[in-house]
Amino acid sequence: MEPFRGVFTQQEAIPDDAIAAAVDVMRTGRLHRYNTVGDELGAASELERAFADYQGTRFCLACASGGYAMSIALRAAGVEPGDTVLTNSFTLAPVPGAVASVGARPAFVEITEDLVLDLDDLKTKISETGAKVLLLSSMRGHLCDMEALVALLADNDVLLVEDCAHTMGASWNGRASGSFGLAGCFSTQTYKHLNSGEGGLLTSDDPQFMARAIMLSGSYMLYRRHGAAPPETTFEDIRLETPNMSGRMDNLRAAILLPQLQTLDKNVQRWNERYDLIADGLSEVPAIKLPRRPDPEHYVGSSIQFRFPTLDPEKMLRFVELNKEMGVELKWFGDNTPVAFTSNHHSWKYTDPQELPKTDHILASLFDMRIPLSFTLGDCAHIARIIGHNASRCTSEGNLRKIE
Ligand SMILES: *Cc1c(COP(=O)(O)O)cnc(C)c1O
Repeated sequence: MEPFRGVFTQQEAIPDDAIAAAVDVMRTGRLHRYNTVGDELGAASELERAFADYQGTRFCLACASGGYAMSIALRAAGVEPGDTVLTNSFTLAPVPGAVASVGARPAFVEITEDLVLDLDDLKTKISETGAKVLLLSSMRGHLCDMEALVALLADNDVLLVEDCAHTMGASWNGRASGSFGLAGCFSTQTYKHLNSGEGGLLTSDDPQFMARAIMLSGSYMLYRRHGAAPPETTFEDIRLETPNMSGRMDNLRAAILLPQLQTLDKNVQRWNERYDLIADGLSEVPAIKLPRRPDPEHYVGSSIQFRFPTLDPEKMLRFVELNKEMGVELKWFGDNTPVAFTSNHHSWKYTDPQELPKTDHILASLFDMRIPLSFTLGDCAHIARIIGHNASRCTSEGNLRKIE
């Protein structure tokens, strides 16, 4: 079999209209979001308006990163130093990092084999910790039963902040991911669904919450110039009571993002064609277990995860190695040392150590692969064949050893 020669970290180019918009901003020199002339809105404010409309939410704030959006969301939600914040045990480092940034402590909730929050464990942890906020991470784009989650949280007076870094463009029963609770946090970092290098978007329907978030982001009392902000009167006291923790988005990045938002849904379709093709290929490999994608979930297949539960633990890295030799870059979440984007709760030493046997068991056989849009459908079929081939090799080697 021919090795694959594509590059897993290669995103598509920034579209020409976005490049032109960025050049226009640079020609004016007005890169700072509040450096506007007359009643000019500015790209950052336009982006806020456009993204609020896309999400179907009242308010939106453009800011420095997804991690920053989560951090100010927790603070604006009233989380204080020493508080406990519930969050997923399977997530990326910026999530526990956002909890730590407000001096709070994460209490990790187990995941299920479908890689979503385990609602039974959530119930237990709510009563054990008394925590009042859940930072839900829809890690790698897997949505839990959102209606069941919302009902459980309402019963227990727990606020929901959603980390939608991998679910921008996704929905559950037709409702946009990020619109189920107090706030949705999005990232426009290069490997997410819109690309401005770095960037974040925070959405909410709650005027007081959004006024606090806008002040936190460093609005220099210029909140009137925002694109999707609550009315001025909401800021009356909040503007004096809320510290400035500068983390604004600039007009240059917003200008790059605006045209990309127009093609987001089209790109979601293109991701899913690629995802479905790879998933179909892998579903024919008996040893490989794909997480279920429930009917109400409209996902964005910008990456794929699967488990290889029958593989001996010491063989996990060999499987990664064999695929790498043939040009396919898999990440393994069970590794003891964090590699690139695959850290797990054991490597977040600043958090309280926690027993998460179910999550550990799942992560021990969990593999992860990016699906950049720069790959063709032919590339995706090729990749699936290589993984299948290496899975058979590892399985038969395992059997041989057992026979010896
Ligand atoms: C990327 C990511 C974020 C936010 O990341 P930033 O780099 O801060 O924009 C949050 N959660 C998850 C799960 C992510 O993958």
